[in-house]
Amino acid sequence: MFQTNMVTHLWDLVDEGLESVLDCLHGGIGVTGLCVPVATGPGRHLRYGAGVVPRVFQTRGGVFFPPNKARYERTRCKPISSGWLRSRDPLRKLSELCRERGLGLRAVIECTNTGRIAAHDAHFAQKNVFGDVSRSQVCLANADVAEFVRALSVDVSSTYAIDTVELTGLAPLSCSATDSHQYLSLGAQQLLALCFCESCMQSAAEAGVDVESAARSATVRLDTVFRTGQPIETSLAALADDDPPLCSFLAWYRDRIAALVSSVGASCNACIASHARLASGAGEEAIDPGYTRGANIVVLDFFDAEIGLLERTIGHLRGTLVDEQRLEAQLSVTPPAAGDDQALVRNLTRVAESGIPSANLDHYGRLPRDHVDLVKQAIRFARRTFR
Ligand SMILES: [Zn+2]
Repeated sequence: MFQTNMVTHLWDLVDEGLESVLDCLHGGIGVTGLCVPVATGPGRHLRYGAGVVPRVFQTRGGVFFPPNKARYERTRCKPISSGWLRSRDPLRKLSELCRERGLGLRAVIECTNTGRIAAHDAHFAQKNVFGDVSRSQVCLANADVAEFVRALSVDVSSTYAIDTVELTGLAPLSCSATDSHQYLSLGAQQLLALCFCESCMQSAAEAGVDVESAARSATVRLDTVFRTGQPIETSLAALADDDPPLCSFLAWYRDRIAALVSSVGASCNACIASHARLASGAGEEAIDPGYTRGANIVVLDFFDAEIGLLERTIGHLRGTLVDEQRLEAQLSVTPPAAGDDQALVRNLTRVAESGIPSANLDHYGRLPRDHVDLVKQAIRFARRTFR
């Protein structure tokens, strides 16, 4: 049967009541599971639920369950609990309720942007090619950070009834929507997202990569963008095809990420999913499949409403799957700004028609409650058309 998981933040579950949210999602909408972010970065989350307080939930981020400290003995990078949690453990109750109702439960870990660690200790933070140290993003090529992500995945999946651990933010991409980086072209954004921290420089050099030349190339290309205002429309992967030092630096980084994902998979008694996100305004070829290696499931994060792009991206990603990997999709339940109410119904149906067995719906907190029936209808259509 076609599966649907609603992405649901713990603060929405707690503030609206676990039982009543589950009644809406399970009984009302008919989802088959939940995806719960358990380690996130800082954020301001506008909530659409009637009368929900506070209307904007603000968090400095962190880990959203009480970590078992013994699990992190092999890393200097330690979990920092969200201040919101205090001494509570709502994930435990949720896990029990999901089990009782026969609902699946997935834990989502925002790997790069994971709560407060970079701000707390710059040793674990990313550093761009200009030497700017991130206050929010950690470097996944750092061995302590990689061990932290592995330990966190083991901790959450062995403490609660978690069937899948979803890892997001593995590709060097992204900036948040409020970030001025978003005005850069795709290639420039991706170049600026590359980490050249001491840990990366040293371990890439040890692997035989000419890191000095790779850094020089990134600097020259970005300086040219800043001087001329000319965009780099091609993706980083395509740029690197004609740039051997950059190409080998990227290949080294992809290998580090693949090793991280494989180590998480080898130590967890759960499926491992890696998210592949289509950057805003980018074509399907901008998704680099190098960051999904080692995962059982590849989740296509699709926030656009255009069905042609969805179809092309599914086709592109399908061609990159290896070793029994399964493709899934994640679609937004918030109607697009253009007011296309049917976008979710259309896209979810097409996902199911394409033979994709499962989709995440993002997310409960920003679901207009008048659209509950629409989401229910989208799921019903998708189930009917799945083959
Ligand atoms: Zn680094």
